[in-house]
Formats: sequence, structure tokens, C-alpha cells
Amino acid sequence: MSSTRRSELADIDVAIVGAGIIGCVTAWQLVARVPGSRVVVLDRDIIASGATRRSAGLHFPRGGSEQVRRMSAYSQQYYERLARSWTGMPIHPVPMVVLTADPVRLHESYLAEAGLRRTALPSFVRLSDGIEAWRGDGCQYADVAALTQQLAAKLRGSVQFYEGTRVTQLTPDPDGVTVSLGTGADLRAGQVLLAPGPWLADPAWSYLTAPLGARVKKVVALHIEQAPSIDDDVVVFEDQDAFLLPLFERGHWLFSYTCREWDVRPDELTTGLSARNLDEALTYLRRHAPALAGRCVGGRVFCDAYSGDGEPRVRYLDPDRRLVFAGAANGSGYRLAPAIARAACGLLDVSTRQGAFRDHQHL
Ligand SMILES: Cc1cc2nc3c(=O)[nH]c(=O)nc-3n(C[C@H](O)[C@H](O)[C@H](O)COP(=O)(O)OP(=O)(O)OC[C@H]3O[C@@H](n4cnc5c(N)ncnc54)[C@H](O)[C@@H]3O)c2cc1C
Repeated sequence: MSSTRRSELADIDVAIVGAGIIGCVTAWQLVARVPGSRVVVLDRDIIASGATRRSAGLHFPRGGSEQVRRMSAYSQQYYERLARSWTGMPIHPVPMVVLTADPVRLHESYLAEAGLRRTALPSFVRLSDGIEAWRGDGCQYADVAALTQQLAAKLRGSVQFYEGTRVTQLTPDPDGVTVSLGTGADLRAGQVLLAPGPWLADPAWSYLTAPLGARVKKVVALHIEQAPSIDDDVVVFEDQDAFLLPLFERGHWLFSYTCREWDVRPDELTTGLSARNLDEALTYLRRHAPALAGRCVGGRVFCDAYSGDGEPRVRYLDPDRRLVFAGAANGSGYRLAPAIARAACGLLDVSTRQGAFRDHQHL
């Protein structure tokens, strides 16, 4: 380490790198568990400017494995409490219709609390014979960036936010972690939570995250310039991993489909929708919701980290357990964030040192 670097705040319990939904919900839960714990959150940009800013923010009560279903159930209850506790939280319950050719798998994937029951196909959807429509409960969507910023605003005063501050190096040792900053300062923290979203390959930590085996995939959603009506449902095309979401607050529909462009880099995704993205999404929409296809002219494009097995990664990155990774949530980082944060808090000493698990009371 260069002798010209400044040393700051030697007594931080946890430094959280990444002020997206996962970093900020984790900060929230940490402070709730152990009031008075010394937590800082660092982001090279402003709060909620990564994947969180582009998120469609849909939560639906499902999971491809038992673990993800448990995480989904926990997160659903957590968001429900959050929405009940503070008026103005940008979390909006919305009715859900799921379309599938495989009702057995559907019932395995969705939580029992969703109470799936047969319903009619939405009038604007065209599907081949054998497709069934099921109505279910527990779906909501959020303005994820606004929610993250609201959490951060409530945390200020007990958590210190370093925005516009790039982390350039993480150096763990048996007693803690030295966090080197682009400003020329070094922070010393007992532990670090790394919540970098799709910035897995940042040189500051790529050697630490490589063993996770996670990859970064482009995520694309089209905006449909048609105002939803008050009684519109989310329509989930279960077998295609696609959905139509009525974004009432923004005044338009959103169509999310599975883009298969892998190993992209977040800093290079500045060109917006490609002809290929538009063509893939429109081909699907023309077939299954033709009335909406003609109204797509734009959308949102970014990327997210994928673990490879459908389950988010929350684990230590070093033998001394000073560095914890949380993320790679496979395009579900919003809906699973509270459960990911809970798992991360379980790996951060500050929670075990002072005991009680209090996030429920905190809300
Ligand atoms: C178009 C789109 C639609 C989506 N729709 C949904 C959905 O409907 N439902 C759902 O559940 N999920 C959805 N997702 C996924 C979800 O948005 C992400 O999983 C989630 O936002 C990830 O949050 P995060 O906090 O891990 O990452 P991010 O929000 O990306 O935060 C990581 C932060 O790390 C910071 N950072 C990076 N490098 C450094 C550095 N060197 N130093 C300091 N800071 C650094 C970045 O600036 C960033 O703010 C969608 C994603 C996209 C792109």
C-alpha cells in the first residue's frame, strides 16, 4: 500500500460496497439488528444507479427451487410489512394471471399462499390450445430505485453513505479488510459486504468473485406506449420466462422477455436497445399479444448477475470470513433482496456479536 494514502475511520464494523437494492436492504437489516453498529455504504455512483435503477421491479410468489421459494415467501412478507409501515413506499400490489401448458410444474413453483385458481385467458392474449390461465395472489411491483433511495434516506444519520466513491481494492487479512478508495483514502472495516450487482468483473475484486462461477447476462424489457386500465393484471408467460406488466404509475405497459446475450459488461451497455433485442421481443408479442406489439418503440436495457443454478449467492469470499458476497440473483434481485440481506446479515459478525434478530420489530 502506498504510504501517501490516507487512512480514515478505523472503527467501521461493516463496509457495504454497492448501494443498490441489495446493499441498502442489507444496511437496513444490519442497523435494525444491532442499533449503533457502525456501517458505511460505498458506491462509485449515486444510490440506486446500477441494475436497481433499470429494474422492472416485479415480485411474483414463485421459485424454481425450495430455497428460492422460501426466499420469495420471506421477501414477500417483508415488502408487505414495509408497504404497511410507511405510506408512500412505491410498492404496488397488482393482480396476476399466469399462463402455462404445464399446470403440475406451475403448482410446484408457486407458493401455496398464491392460491392459484383457474381463470379465463386475458382477452388480448392469443395462445395455442392447451394453454391454461391461472389467477394468483401476492404479486406486486415497485419503483425499485425510489424504494432504495427511501430506505437510504431513512438510514442517513445511522449509516454513512459514500456516493461517487469508487472502491479500487479490497485487501482482506485475519483482522479485517482494507478498503481502498479512488479518492486516495483507505478505510479499515471489520468486514465487507460486497453487493456489486453486475459489476462482478471489477478489477478491485474480480479475483475474489471468479470462484463463484457467476456470469452477467443482458436484461431487456420493452415499453409499450399504451396506458393500462385500472383492472388490468400482470400476465406471466410462465413457460417462456416472460411477462407483461401494467406500470400504472408510469402510464404504460412493460414487456419483459428472456434475452440470451451472456458475458456482457455493465459499463459497455450504453447503446440502448439493439435491432436484435427489438426483433426478438416483437416476434413474441406479435404472436401472443398483437394488439400491444404495434405500440413498442422503446424500452430498458441493462444486465444482471446470474449464479448458474437459479439460486442467489451469499457466501464468504476469503478464508478469514471478512468478506461476504451477496447477489447473483438471476434477474430476481428485487424480489429476493430482503431474503438475500437476511442471509448476508447471518454471515456478518455484527449480528452474532450483539445477538437479537430484530428486523421484524424495526419495520
Ligand atoms: C431491465 C431489468 C429488469 C429487471 N426486472 C426485475 C424484476 O422485475 N424483478 C426482480 O426481482 N428483479 C429484476 N431485475 C433484477 C434486479 O434489478 C437486480 O437483480 C437488482 O437490482 C440487483 O441489485 P444489486 O444491489 O445487487 O445491484 P446494483 O443495483 O447493480 O448495485 C450495485 C452497485 O454497485 C456499485 N459499484 C459497482 N462497482 C463499484 C466500485 N468499484 N466501487 C463502488 N461501487 C461500485 C454500482 O454503482 C451499483 O450502484 C431486473 C434487472 C434489469 C436490468
